[in-house]
Amino acid sequence: MIELEPKSQTSFYESVISYFDKAAKHTGLHPGLLEQIKVCNAVYRMHFPVKIGNEYRVIEAYRVQHSHHRTPTKGGIRFSNHVNQEEVMALATLMTFKCAIVDVPFGGAKGGVKINPWEYTPSQVEKITRRYTSELVRRNMIGPSVDVPAPDYGTGSREMAWIYDTYRTFNGDDIDAAGCVTGKPVTQHGIRGRTEATGRGVYYGIREACNSREDMKELGLEPGIAGKTMIVQGLGNVGSYTSMISQDEGDVKIIGVAEVEGAIYKESGIDIHDLLRFRKETGSILGYPGATVFEKKDRRAVLEMECDILVPAALENQITMENAHNIKAKIIAEAANGPVTSKAEEVLLKKGVIIIPDLYLNAGGVTVSYFEWLKNLSHMRFGRMEKRFNQQTYQNLVDLVERLTGHSIGERERAMVARGADEIDLVRSGLEETMISSYHQIREIMKRKRKIEDLRTAAFVSAINKISSDYLSLGIFP
Ligand code: NAD
Repeated sequence: MIELEPKSQTSFYESVISYFDKAAKHTGLHPGLLEQIKVCNAVYRMHFPVKIGNEYRVIEAYRVQHSHHRTPTKGGIRFSNHVNQEEVMALATLMTFKCAIVDVPFGGAKGGVKINPWEYTPSQVEKITRRYTSELVRRNMIGPSVDVPAPDYGTGSREMAWIYDTYRTFNGDDIDAAGCVTGKPVTQHGIRGRTEATGRGVYYGIREACNSREDMKELGLEPGIAGKTMIVQGLGNVGSYTSMISQDEGDVKIIGVAEVEGAIYKESGIDIHDLLRFRKETGSILGYPGATVFEKKDRRAVLEMECDILVPAALENQITMENAHNIKAKIIAEAANGPVTSKAEEVLLKKGVIIIPDLYLNAGGVTVSYFEWLKNLSHMRFGRMEKRFNQQTYQNLVDLVERLTGHSIGERERAMVARGADEIDLVRSGLEETMISSYHQIREIMKRKRKIEDLRTAAFVSAINKISSDYLSLGIFP
């Protein structure tokens, strides 16, 4: 008999804790140490007034620092009507493990402001963002060596620029002030490649999983990402870049898309650039030529259509006991945080679905945020020192090859070989390396510990082991 979750579902935080507990059993670590690694170190809830038109609104907001085993702490800021303390705690907890998995030396944190940003004008959102930032400054909860926010659901580079500017107003003499927040516009001390980073990382992670012959054989699929079908939920920052890069660089066929207004399905494939243009012009994905429509109330049904890869890239708790049994995708790529509840995961794993977990798969954002933070602290663009030197060295090599072989190398080939790396090349290369090596670290744990049968548990074990060694080296725990 199917065990249905109550209407409220397993909460996001309960799911994260249950994933942690499942993995903790495989570590053999002291229970006290595991408890310290699990709990949120600091939870701040605040209320502040903002004048909107002629009225005052009291805004509820949070910043949670999950772990101080490494500082600064790091994690995005979410603007959403659904923000609540447990949600921010769940997201902050995930951040700690995410950073550990991709070897980014931060503790986890997260912020949330309980507003629907689309109900406010840009100048009202600016007012709220600046006021939230000054609350963080007053509590010493933001700063390049303290706690470094970034974008998340409902926020982007615009909000990060306001946060930086507000922080700078209070800390005019902090030479590293630009490192107080990441995801800033490139013209405001941001880094090239940050906006696409989470989606690009999701693509690298999916590609790596699809390259595993063993796993693809078990799913009855050919190895390699090319030609695989994909359904995406959410066309925001993460969902749109994941789709565009999967289509353009991975030759993936997007056959379904869900957004707030409804969902569409087209077996012959949806050109994602076309769809994004269509939505910009019409304000909706519905009505996209040749696609079957799912009205708003039925939009989740598209997640149940047959496909190779299902990418939930919107919010948590999207695959629950209500729909897990109907999911036909062979791979679920968790681009969003917490899209699958822990109970739904049990059902999916029994069905043989491979779940590429959020704490690994969407870590591309924090990885490139780390690069941005390093750039801010070094006060120099990546590639500035070595680009010309490398370019000249490669030119000399090409000249030498020409001289020794007597063959001349064409202009196109020369331009391809003899070039120095720009910031964007280095960021993408660093991100790709991170996603590939972290995936193999996780797979290695599955190989070594035969009792671990899913990627999420292996990812948690990898992270817990790394964090525990920090605590153990401090001598606090036996
Ligand atoms: P976003 O605000 O840019 O986009 C979210 C999109 O999802 C929006 O287009 C929204 O309309 C859509 N959406 C909301 N509810 C939906 C529903 N029920 N069905 C279909 N679509 C729906 O947010 P984002 O930054 O892309 O974040 C998405 C997810 O990725 C979140 O879980 C976030 O925590 C996670 N994440 C984001 C980043 C980042 O760098 N932005 C990094 C790591 C993880």
